[in-house]
Amino acid sequence: MLQGSALARRQENWVTIGWQGITLRVPEDWFPAALGTERASGYLRVQNPEGLSLEVKWSSPKGTVDLDAQLANYRKTLARAARKRKLDFDWKDKPKVPVREARPDKNRRFFGWKGEGQGLGVVWYCRGCGRVVFAQVAAPASQETPTLAATILSTLEDHGEDGEDLWALYGLQVRVPSGWLLDKHQLMAGYTMLQFRQRERLLRAERWALANVALKEACLEDFLWDKCRKFWRDYRLQASAAEWAGHPGVFFAGRTRKVVPRLVAPVRRLIRRPGADRLSARAWHCATANKIFALHAVHPEGDLTALESAVQSVTCH
Ligand SMILES: [Zn+2]
Ligand SMILES: [Zn+2]
Repeated sequence: MLQGSALARRQENWVTIGWQGITLRVPEDWFPAALGTERASGYLRVQNPEGLSLEVKWSSPKGTVDLDAQLANYRKTLARAARKRKLDFDWKDKPKVPVREARPDKNRRFFGWKGEGQGLGVVWYCRGCGRVVFAQVAAPASQETPTLAATILSTLEDHGEDGEDLWALYGLQVRVPSGWLLDKHQLMAGYTMLQFRQRERLLRAERWALANVALKEACLEDFLWDKCRKFWRDYRLQASAAEWAGHPGVFFAGRTRKVVPRLVAPVRRLIRRPGADRLSARAWHCATANKIFALHAVHPEGDLTALESAVQSVTCH
């Protein structure tokens, strides 16, 4: 168990997780175990090898929200589960919360319980974005974790800043405007991909690990031609060397091969609704992090804003 200054020291090694507008920080051996794919409401769970977990449920209710009723329901569910297993059950409405920061935009209620395991949690309604958040750190009954649990809960945020959400998992961190929706994702230690959509436009961020191994067989450009073949198949692209933030990189750009979008393109430009018939991608090799990053955008001609601001938001090392 970590307490006080040991915990503060160790927090340097914490990692940020960002998903659907929710962000939080956890020690680096914690990993995502469940991730909801809907923005309006969903559930995520992050856990560590010793059986500790953080669960976050979010929703965006239309009407009024009765946090007390939700808590009372949760308490009942837990009490019933404990009774079935003939365990004592203890619930606290105002538990000791060793680490606690003021949050003027949220009306928070903390709760704590002990039964089949134990938990420290919090529910709130955010006046900023209208989300209701229910979060708790749960642990086996044998592990005393109030400081760790409270520290993790204190890092939890339910909306991004300046109209952008931070998406962060497995060493890939990218900021995306809140109006873009998660379209596809693939999350593995060796490869992480997040793809977002806004109408016809796409934004895709990818990160490959073990770049030194990958680049033994092929140069960066050939690696990308190979890995992105499927995603790029409808575009006729040209590559040019383009350093990024001091790293060797490649820029790919080109137009769709599909006939219909090409035919209607002049008309759509004329009515000022240009179609997203271009693909541009910026990729680079970060030797320090031993990773390869690629960001792609499907966009109207000349409009690289989404791509460039996403690229700017990525910190590779
Ligand atoms: Zn909020
Ligand atoms: Zn780097």
